[in-house]
Amino acid sequence: MLIFYNKADLNIYLNASRSNNSTIGFVPTMGALHEGHLSLLRESIKNNLQTVISIFVNPTQFNNPEDLAKYPRTLDNDVEKIKSISDKIIVYAPTVDDIYDGNTKSTHYNFDGLEHQMEGKFRQGHFDGVGTVVKRLFDIVKPTNAYFGEKDFQQLQIVKKLVEKEKIKVNIIGCTIFREQNGLAMSSRNERLTNLQREKAEIIYKTINKAKQLFGTKSAKEVIEFVTGQFKNDSLFELEYFEIADEATLLPCIRKSKNKKYRAFIAVFVNKIRLIDTISL
Ligand code: AMP
Repeated sequence: MLIFYNKADLNIYLNASRSNNSTIGFVPTMGALHEGHLSLLRESIKNNLQTVISIFVNPTQFNNPEDLAKYPRTLDNDVEKIKSISDKIIVYAPTVDDIYDGNTKSTHYNFDGLEHQMEGKFRQGHFDGVGTVVKRLFDIVKPTNAYFGEKDFQQLQIVKKLVEKEKIKVNIIGCTIFREQNGLAMSSRNERLTNLQREKAEIIYKTINKAKQLFGTKSAKEVIEFVTGQFKNDSLFELEYFEIADEATLLPCIRKSKNKKYRAFIAVFVNKIRLIDTISL
């Protein structure tokens, strides 16, 4: 399997294999791969002649230095998991300098307000970091199709906006959320949970599922009150936010409208480990 640690080598290889009808599928990740990431890779393999995965813990999208320091880095393990799918997948695992050329700073982006909601409110500068790294990775890989998980739905909408605003020639494909058996959305951060915390964290998906049911008959305000109540009495969990928002604008739902598609978004701390999830309503 080919692993590239810098863009120059990756480019030499990709440019030599590019032709008129070649297609490159691209799956950007921060590593510590799980079945969710692998489902994106499978989707890419199905629809492209070549698939590239990047494994890069991007410092500019972390607002919390402890979260960045503790983010799991498991490249050898990741490579084994990728190989188990196909040894034709191309791995790009750059250093920070390869991406940032000695200037580890974000570009500031205007994503028409998408960046000010939810994750943007609680993680200052996060989406500037995401926009910066995704733009750089797209410039390097020049993919035909790029695959992103709906687990990070706000990020998916922001990447679509980035592509539209920067006029990047790539199709952005959203992929469904892969879950553990108890419903907990798979995440690299789950590795930091104890077995008991992981078990108890099923409450996150159970609660948003119940919220989906309730939203059929109740107002957004009533559903928010229900969800807040679910987390109030358990000291293991700290609810950071629960919001019901319009899928297109990500603006909070004040009064339900028949013409809009809504989605619930949640962020919960389990003993300082931050987990997010989302469900279409
Ligand atoms: P990350 O490594 O967390 O930056 O994630 C890399 C990509 O995998 C992003 O597009 C995520 O949305 C996606 N992803 C993460 N977790 C899941 C999951 N449980 N199911 C599907 N996609 C996921």
